[in-house]
Amino acid sequence: ALDVTTQIEVLRAFKSVMKKGGIAGVYVSHDLAVVAQIADHIVVLKGGEVQEVGTTEEILSNAKHPYTRELLSAFEPKPREAADAAERAPAPLLKIENLVAGYGASKTDGLPLVRAVEDVSLKVEKGRNLGIIGESGCGKSTLARAIAGILPAAVGKIVFDGKELGRSARERTRDQLREMQIVFQYADTALNPAKSVEDILDRPLVFYHGMNARARSLRIDELLDMVRLPRNLRHRRPGELSGGQKQRVNFARALAADPKLILCDEITSALDTVVAAAVIELLKELQRELGLSYIFISHDLSLVEAICDEIVVMYGGKKVEDITPAKINAPHHPYSQLLFSSVPKLDPSWLDGLEQDPELVRAYCRR
Ligand code: ADP
Ligand code: MG
Repeated sequence: ALDVTTQIEVLRAFKSVMKKGGIAGVYVSHDLAVVAQIADHIVVLKGGEVQEVGTTEEILSNAKHPYTRELLSAFEPKPREAADAAERAPAPLLKIENLVAGYGASKTDGLPLVRAVEDVSLKVEKGRNLGIIGESGCGKSTLARAIAGILPAAVGKIVFDGKELGRSARERTRDQLREMQIVFQYADTALNPAKSVEDILDRPLVFYHGMNARARSLRIDELLDMVRLPRNLRHRRPGELSGGQKQRVNFARALAADPKLILCDEITSALDTVVAAAVIELLKELQRELGLSYIFISHDLSLVEAICDEIVVMYGGKKVEDITPAKINAPHHPYSQLLFSSVPKLDPSWLDGLEQDPELVRAYCRR
């Protein structure tokens, strides 16, 4: 029941403690990938009967029993299947082509005088997260604004959920606006200090959903639950909230629209690390519950790594690097995909090597 990162860390801890104490272990699991990483011998059970016994290496490389082979194929699909899956892959949620955006229009060619974003192309797949990372001033926020249409791009194409969007928010339909929300770095300036949390959350519910007062009130309870804030906090104003709470309200306002994509621009930069980590956890949980995608903008690689499937590196307004996990055979189980793509397959001792370096574990998890 653990996410992939936690699972690896737990396995690693188990393994290390058992090794130090000279303890033998019996590890019971439905997940062959997990067992293969921790066990020296494997017993395959089905219908109360032992199907097969062998060393991990024997089981993985030379499974005799059809059921074991079935288990193995669950994380080792045929290359052909993978190719089919790639052909059938759904269209990306967001596709950006050759975007140019900036500040001040030149009189001669109408292009921005300050080119903050120069010819950037990228993709966000449905239900996945894209990280955008780069030093301060490299154009991350400008790119986010251009995607959201707040600062219309001068050149380029934005395709969202299969439809080309107007470059300016004004040219977009209300539904298109609703489906793409943006959360800014400074919750303080993003939230009107004169309004209560309730009023702040009311607005998108009226604007996007035309809800009546009763429906709104119920929905606000739900939204506060979603961002793990107490319901009675709805009567407070932003000044009466902590930084982390403010950012949660900010996030709840984005969720009120029922978006498909949330652009998160440095949303944790103003928070201390513990509060920031809790916000990241919340984002992950909400993603599991609601099937959202995020574009997560940050100057902090470890944060981006903690939540993103793909990472784009920006420098001086340009995209300089695309870090995409290797395309692996379409697996049934994401965890096995991870383990068997990034780890020498027949060497369950790989965890030992990781004991020295927790960062390495994280790196493995993100591959
Ligand atoms: P980041 O979010 O990566 O820190 P920004 O997108 O905010 O970067 O800024 C990119 C570039 O655009 C910087 O050189 C910045 O000085 C410039 N810039 C940002 N906002 C404005 C503005 N309103 N007017 C003129 N230049 C701006
Ligand atoms: Mg910025």
